[in-house]
Amino acid sequence: MTRNIILMGPPGAGKGTQSKILEEKYGLKQLSTGDMLRAERAAGSDLGRRVQAIMDAGQLVSDDIIIEMIEKRMADADCAKGVIFDGFPRTIPQAEALDAMLAKRGGRINLVVDLSVDEKILFDRVEKRAAEAAASGQPVRNDDKPEVVTRRIREYKAYTAEVSPYYQKQGLLHKLDGMRPIDEIAAKIDALVART
Ligand code: AMP
Repeated sequence: MTRNIILMGPPGAGKGTQSKILEEKYGLKQLSTGDMLRAERAAGSDLGRRVQAIMDAGQLVSDDIIIEMIEKRMADADCAKGVIFDGFPRTIPQAEALDAMLAKRGGRINLVVDLSVDEKILFDRVEKRAAEAAASGQPVRNDDKPEVVTRRIREYKAYTAEVSPYYQKQGLLHKLDGMRPIDEIAAKIDALVART
């Protein structure tokens, strides 16, 4: 069976960690629209050039671009068992387009998890991630810099406020405390997935 999950949560909430666990257990594929866009930029593609200024200004890339990018990617074989969406959908038109896309393939969104974390703790976590990257000689993500993190938290709040009622109405939204230990959160998500 296919399962499609949306993981919502501010930067540093542990979405990457929980996604890895879900990928391994259920053969799902995590798709982060932010990562996909950054890859396009790094590759210097047409799309990358088109979104560059918008991303740097901290604005949302247009729904059309995002929807087309996700639709193309979902056709790949590694998405056949289902997808964990990260950073998407950020608007109601994106959420509606996603529903339509999945329906065409006989699927739907099975579960939406919102990982909540105190802002103070978020800063510590993101700082730690940046320090670890620097210490191991990896590039520090430009958007892990403190001023950018503040903006990303604000953005996250805005888009969660927009899309979470959409899923709440459908009974799909589950809020979890992202400050609990990794294993405990993973077990809670697992129990929710098992019920889908
Ligand atoms: P993220 O890594 O998810 O914080 O995304 C980084 C940037 O990519 C955002 O600030 C937006 O400019 C753009 N972006 C990522 N996902 C979306 C989306 N679903 N809709 C619109 N813009 C997006």
